[in-house]
Amino acid sequence: AKTSGKNRYHLFNPAFYEAMRLRTRREKELRAAIAENQFVMHYQARVDCKSGKVTSLEALVRWNHPAEGLLGPDEFIGLAEETGLILNLGELVIDLVCTQIAQWEHGVYGGVPVSINVSSRQFNERDIRESIASALARHAIDASSVEIELTESSMVVDPVRTADNLQAIHALGVKLLVDDFGTGYSSLSMLHNMSFDVLKVDKSFTSRLGVDENGEVFFRAIITMAHSLGMRVVAEGVETAEQARILEALQCDELQGFYLFRPVPAEQLPDSLELQANA
Ligand code: C2E
Ligand code: CA
Ligand code: CA
Ligand code: CA
Repeated sequence: AKTSGKNRYHLFNPAFYEAMRLRTRREKELRAAIAENQFVMHYQARVDCKSGKVTSLEALVRWNHPAEGLLGPDEFIGLAEETGLILNLGELVIDLVCTQIAQWEHGVYGGVPVSINVSSRQFNERDIRESIASALARHAIDASSVEIELTESSMVVDPVRTADNLQAIHALGVKLLVDDFGTGYSSLSMLHNMSFDVLKVDKSFTSRLGVDENGEVFFRAIITMAHSLGMRVVAEGVETAEQARILEALQCDELQGFYLFRPVPAEQLPDSLELQANA
């Protein structure tokens, strides 16, 4: 009786209706935003520990909402995934990134690969290989200028199909990165069999460096194993000089985070690939 009372309260709770109304409005707005392309990409550099040079840029989508201004992915990617709109948004993102890469061809960023975040629905319900291949052809850009970031959770849905898919994308010459590594349930050997090139260790591990021993122990083990399997390791979410120092000592290959560079629109990227002062 208590439970049904709670449910009844929930159903007639004005806040519940308000949330539903907001969600329906957002979904409508998101649909229009995709049709009108209200999206812009920001780019965050990754830096090689040894050379201090920018090795790659991560493309991070933002919604330029007509009334509310620039919205981050946390405010709309979840809804896009639930509603399936991510399939069209994902195509749009691939196109925006490839347009940018083509524009960069003769500048400082010509030849610097850009990594694209792909969500599990895009990966499992679309022929993502075909999407990428046709975008590369349409914009006349090389496969080596694009990388794909995929979380471990995207692979558990159908590991066999995922492995085939990844193999096909890899065969194009596109590098594959595991995103948020350490937060899912995959083993390194499984990831190795799926032909990943790079592990991006989740920022929750980076934030523990210098705080307790666990962060360091985790990175040390991952780096040793990843290297023996021929994969590079990127630390995400590097925010302090101390974290950067520890990661360099641990032979981490690349760093990414606010301490080095923040995500910015293409025109605000540093005009040199050499790491200078902290952004
Ligand atoms: P992610 O792929 O793990 O991206 C890293 C997020 O951490 C970005 O947030 C970035 O701005 C933020 N970040 C970078 N350095 C630091 C740091 O030093 N400290 C902290 N605290 N945060 C840092 P953002 O741009 O809000 O993106 C959030 C998530 O949204 C991404 O997480 C990714 O999962 C998703 N996302 C972004 N763009 C796309 C896209 O084009 N397609 C899809 N499907 N998902 C996207
Ligand atoms: Ca990512
Ligand atoms: Ca990540
Ligand atoms: Ca994430």
